[in-house]
Amino acid sequence: MFFPRNLVCYLYDAMNLNQVFLHTGTNLGNRQANLRLANEWIEKEIGPIVQASEVYRTKAWGITDQPDFLNQALLARTRLSPFELLEKIQAIERRMGRVREVKWGERIIDIDILFYNDAIIETETLTIPHPYLHYRNFVLLPLMDIAPGLVHPGFGKTITELYANSEDTLLVEVVK
Ligand code: AMP
Repeated sequence: MFFPRNLVCYLYDAMNLNQVFLHTGTNLGNRQANLRLANEWIEKEIGPIVQASEVYRTKAWGITDQPDFLNQALLARTRLSPFELLEKIQAIERRMGRVREVKWGERIIDIDILFYNDAIIETETLTIPHPYLHYRNFVLLPLMDIAPGLVHPGFGKTITELYANSEDTLLVEVVK
Protein backbone atom coordinates (compact mmCIF):
# COMPACT_ATOMS: atom_id res chain seq x y z
CA MET A 1 0.00 0.00 0.00
CA PHE A 2 1.24 3.53 -0.78
CA PHE A 3 1.32 6.16 1.98
CA PRO A 4 2.03 9.82 1.17
CA ARG A 5 5.35 11.04 2.61
CA ASN A 6 3.63 13.68 4.78
CA LEU A 7 1.57 11.01 6.46
CA VAL A 8 4.63 8.83 7.05
CA CYS A 9 6.52 11.80 8.58
CA TYR A 10 3.52 12.65 10.73
CA LEU A 11 3.39 9.09 12.04
CA TYR A 12 7.12 9.06 12.82
CA ASP A 13 6.72 12.37 14.68
CA ALA A 14 3.81 10.91 16.61
CA MET A 15 6.03 7.95 17.52
CA ASN A 16 8.63 10.39 18.86
CA LEU A 17 11.27 9.26 16.42
CA ASN A 18 14.23 11.59 16.14
CA GLN A 19 15.14 13.08 12.78
CA VAL A 20 18.76 12.48 11.77
CA PHE A 21 20.63 13.52 8.66
CA LEU A 22 23.52 11.22 7.80
CA HIS A 23 26.18 11.44 5.13
CA THR A 24 27.83 8.40 3.62
CA GLY A 25 31.00 8.27 1.55
CA THR A 26 33.13 5.59 -0.08
CA ASN A 27 36.10 5.43 -2.44
CA LEU A 28 37.16 1.78 -2.34
CA GLY A 29 35.88 -1.34 -4.10
CA ASN A 30 32.36 -1.38 -5.55
CA ARG A 31 31.34 2.07 -4.34
CA GLN A 32 27.65 1.91 -5.39
CA ALA A 33 27.33 -1.46 -3.61
CA ASN A 34 29.04 -0.02 -0.52
CA LEU A 35 26.48 2.80 -0.33
CA ARG A 36 23.59 0.36 -0.80
CA LEU A 37 24.94 -1.95 1.90
CA ALA A 38 25.44 0.98 4.30
CA ASN A 39 21.80 1.98 3.72
CA GLU A 40 20.67 -1.55 4.49
CA TRP A 41 22.63 -1.59 7.75
CA ILE A 42 21.31 1.86 8.67
CA GLU A 43 17.73 0.66 8.20
CA LYS A 44 18.45 -2.45 10.29
CA GLU A 45 20.43 -0.85 13.09
CA ILE A 46 19.33 2.79 13.23
CA GLY A 47 15.86 3.22 11.77
CA PRO A 48 13.93 3.83 8.56
CA ILE A 49 15.48 5.98 5.83
CA VAL A 50 12.75 8.37 4.74
CA GLN A 51 14.71 10.29 2.14
CA ALA A 52 17.89 9.66 0.18
CA SER A 53 19.70 12.11 -2.09
CA GLU A 54 21.11 11.32 -5.49
CA VAL A 55 24.58 9.77 -5.41
CA TYR A 56 27.32 12.34 -6.08
CA ARG A 57 30.86 11.83 -7.33
CA THR A 58 33.58 13.99 -5.78
CA LYS A 59 37.32 14.32 -6.09
CA ALA A 60 39.01 13.11 -2.90
CA TRP A 61 39.39 15.98 -0.42
CA GLY A 62 42.70 16.65 1.33
CA ILE A 63 44.67 13.85 -0.34
CA THR A 64 44.12 13.96 -4.08
CA ASP A 65 45.95 10.90 -5.57
CA GLN A 66 43.22 8.39 -4.69
CA PRO A 67 39.94 7.25 -6.31
CA ASP A 68 36.98 9.63 -6.43
CA PHE A 69 34.42 9.41 -3.64
CA LEU A 70 30.76 8.62 -4.01
CA ASN A 71 28.60 10.42 -1.45
CA GLN A 72 24.99 10.43 -0.40
CA ALA A 73 22.87 12.27 2.19
CA LEU A 74 20.11 10.45 4.06
CA LEU A 75 17.27 11.42 6.33
CA ALA A 76 16.55 8.65 8.81
CA ARG A 77 14.31 8.31 11.83
CA THR A 78 15.62 6.74 15.02
CA ARG A 79 14.94 6.03 18.66
CA LEU A 80 18.67 6.10 19.41
CA SER A 81 20.27 8.90 21.41
CA PRO A 82 23.08 10.82 19.64
CA PHE A 83 25.80 8.77 21.39
CA GLU A 84 24.05 5.46 20.71
CA LEU A 85 23.77 6.60 17.10
CA LEU A 86 27.53 7.31 16.96
CA GLU A 87 28.25 3.83 18.35
CA LYS A 88 25.96 2.24 15.76
CA ILE A 89 27.50 4.05 12.80
CA GLN A 90 30.98 3.11 13.98
CA ALA A 91 29.88 -0.52 14.35
CA ILE A 92 28.48 -0.44 10.79
CA GLU A 93 31.77 1.04 9.51
CA ARG A 94 33.72 -1.72 11.25
CA ARG A 95 31.36 -4.44 10.04
CA MET A 96 31.76 -3.21 6.48
CA GLY A 97 35.50 -3.62 6.79
CA ARG A 98 36.64 -0.14 7.58
CA VAL A 99 39.86 0.06 9.51
CA ARG A 100 40.80 3.35 11.13
CA GLU A 101 43.46 4.79 8.88
CA VAL A 102 44.95 7.97 7.58
CA LYS A 103 42.74 11.03 8.02
CA TRP A 104 41.08 11.73 4.66
CA GLY A 105 42.58 8.47 3.27
CA GLU A 106 40.87 5.78 1.19
CA ARG A 107 37.87 4.15 2.83
CA ILE A 108 35.20 1.53 2.16
CA ILE A 109 32.64 3.51 4.08
CA ASP A 110 32.50 6.67 6.14
CA ILE A 111 29.27 7.61 7.89
CA ASP A 112 28.88 11.02 9.51
CA ILE A 113 26.07 12.47 11.58
CA LEU A 114 25.21 15.86 10.09
CA PHE A 115 22.19 16.86 12.21
CA TYR A 116 20.23 15.30 15.03
CA ASN A 117 16.89 17.12 15.33
CA ASP A 118 18.07 20.67 16.03
CA ALA A 119 20.54 19.57 18.71
CA ILE A 120 23.86 21.30 19.26
CA ILE A 121 26.39 18.96 20.86
CA GLU A 122 30.08 19.64 21.40
CA THR A 123 32.06 16.92 23.11
CA GLU A 124 35.41 15.27 22.47
CA THR A 125 33.88 12.35 20.61
CA LEU A 126 30.82 13.90 19.02
CA THR A 127 30.10 17.27 17.44
CA ILE A 128 26.64 17.96 16.02
CA PRO A 129 25.94 19.62 13.64
CA HIS A 130 28.95 18.09 11.91
CA PRO A 131 31.71 20.72 12.14
CA TYR A 132 32.81 20.59 8.49
CA LEU A 133 29.47 20.27 6.73
CA HIS A 134 29.27 23.93 5.70
CA TYR A 135 32.76 23.85 4.11
CA ARG A 136 32.12 20.92 1.78
CA ASN A 137 30.01 20.90 -1.34
CA PHE A 138 30.06 17.09 -1.34
CA VAL A 139 27.96 17.36 1.81
CA LEU A 140 25.93 20.47 0.95
CA LEU A 141 24.85 19.37 -2.56
CA PRO A 142 23.40 15.98 -1.51
CA LEU A 143 21.77 17.67 1.49
CA MET A 144 20.18 20.23 -0.81
CA ASP A 145 18.44 17.38 -2.66
CA ILE A 146 16.54 16.34 0.44
CA ALA A 147 16.49 19.38 2.74
CA PRO A 148 17.19 22.69 0.95
CA GLY A 149 15.27 24.70 3.56
CA LEU A 150 16.66 22.95 6.62
CA VAL A 151 18.07 25.56 9.01
CA HIS A 152 21.51 24.90 10.56
CA PRO A 153 20.81 25.37 14.26
CA GLY A 154 24.24 26.88 14.91
CA PHE A 155 24.34 29.40 12.04
CA GLY A 156 20.63 30.09 11.54
CA LYS A 157 21.13 29.63 7.77
CA THR A 158 19.45 27.19 5.41
CA ILE A 159 21.41 24.55 3.50
CA THR A 160 20.75 26.55 0.31
CA GLU A 161 22.25 29.66 1.93
CA LEU A 162 25.26 27.72 3.23
CA TYR A 163 25.87 26.35 -0.29
CA ALA A 164 25.58 29.85 -1.78
CA ASN A 165 28.26 31.02 0.71
CA SER A 166 30.52 27.97 0.29
CA GLU A 167 34.04 28.63 -1.00
CA ASP A 168 34.62 24.96 -1.90
CA THR A 169 35.64 24.62 -5.55
CA LEU A 170 35.93 20.81 -5.86
CA LEU A 171 33.88 19.32 -8.68
CA VAL A 172 30.82 17.50 -7.32
CA GLU A 173 28.46 15.88 -9.84
CA VAL A 174 25.49 13.55 -9.83
CA VAL A 175 26.29 9.97 -10.84
CA LYS A 176 23.95 9.06 -13.71
P1 AMP B 1 35.88 10.10 10.47
O1 AMP B 1 37.31 9.85 10.18
O2 AMP B 1 35.26 11.20 9.67
O3 AMP B 1 35.03 8.86 10.44
O4 AMP B 1 35.83 10.64 11.97
C1 AMP B 1 35.44 9.81 12.98
C2 AMP B 1 35.64 10.47 14.33
O5 AMP B 1 34.93 11.69 14.39
C3 AMP B 1 35.09 9.56 15.40
O6 AMP B 1 36.12 9.27 16.29
C4 AMP B 1 33.98 10.34 16.07
O7 AMP B 1 34.06 10.22 17.47
C5 AMP B 1 34.22 11.76 15.61
N1 AMP B 1 33.00 12.55 15.37
C6 AMP B 1 32.75 13.75 15.96
N2 AMP B 1 31.59 14.25 15.53
C7 AMP B 1 31.08 13.36 14.62
C8 AMP B 1 29.89 13.32 13.84
N3 AMP B 1 28.99 14.34 13.86
N4 AMP B 1 29.69 12.26 13.02
C9 AMP B 1 30.59 11.25 12.98
N5 AMP B 1 31.75 11.22 13.69
C10 AMP B 1 31.99 12.26 14.51
